[in-house]
Amino acid sequence: MLHSRYQKEVLHRLDLMPKEAHLETKLYGELEFEGVEFPLYKVVTRDEYPPKIGNVLISAGTHGDEEAGVHAVLDFMEDVLPEYLDNFKFHIFPCVNPIGFERRTRGDRNGQDLNRAFGPLNQSPPPEVLAIVKSLTLEGQRYISSIDLHEDSPFQVVPGFSTEKVPTDFYFYECCPVKERRIGKVILSRLDGIPTCKDPEIYDDKNEGGLIVYPEGCSNGVYAAGSTFDAYLLREFSDHALISETPMGWDLQRRISAQIQFVRSTLDILIQRAAR
Ligand SMILES: [Zn+2]
Repeated sequence: MLHSRYQKEVLHRLDLMPKEAHLETKLYGELEFEGVEFPLYKVVTRDEYPPKIGNVLISAGTHGDEEAGVHAVLDFMEDVLPEYLDNFKFHIFPCVNPIGFERRTRGDRNGQDLNRAFGPLNQSPPPEVLAIVKSLTLEGQRYISSIDLHEDSPFQVVPGFSTEKVPTDFYFYECCPVKERRIGKVILSRLDGIPTCKDPEIYDDKNEGGLIVYPEGCSNGVYAAGSTFDAYLLREFSDHALISETPMGWDLQRRISAQIQFVRSTLDILIQRAAR
């Protein structure tokens, strides 16, 4: 049955998420594909838990085949998030592209890359993107940080690059115009047991030991187009955007662990910064 994977690996886990306490699951859209419904859910901290520091947005599965981020977000909500409840209000989009997740494809049902569909000139965005835009606009919140979890696949080579150019270790992007607010180097120094990519360039962007800093490090035209989810968030709602990339050559559990450690390190550093 087509619906089985998203149902089993995402919706079922959201159903089992402890309802009594701190999290609320909200339907923010519905897709239909080949006669099957794909409800879109986000998970937010309940209003009874006002945060000391601020709102944090976490998203995964924008590229449907990059599954580690989706599993990492679900694990994070179950096991880690309660530790951070005092400090942050969470807005979580666990699986932005459920049809891609179901079919293990990067793009949506039409092969369109959702992470290139948040552009200001995009007049008719796909329903997945439209639903998120509506949801964020209705919430009307600002986020001190947004974290979008991705993966790098040797089977989905970026156009213009060969497979040898695909990083085989972890790396991440930090996008923050205000330099004083950047925390990427500290995150990098805290990652424990996660090999990071040391190539001087990743897809033409300048890489510093596993960290690509935007806008300065940006040579890749994709970001300049402003059509990625993080670029949209920075334009409209967020002060600081991070994008993690685990290599799909690693086994799944290792990728999930790396993603969770990355989110944890980010939150820990945000708490330390706020205490100063
Ligand atoms: Zn991706």
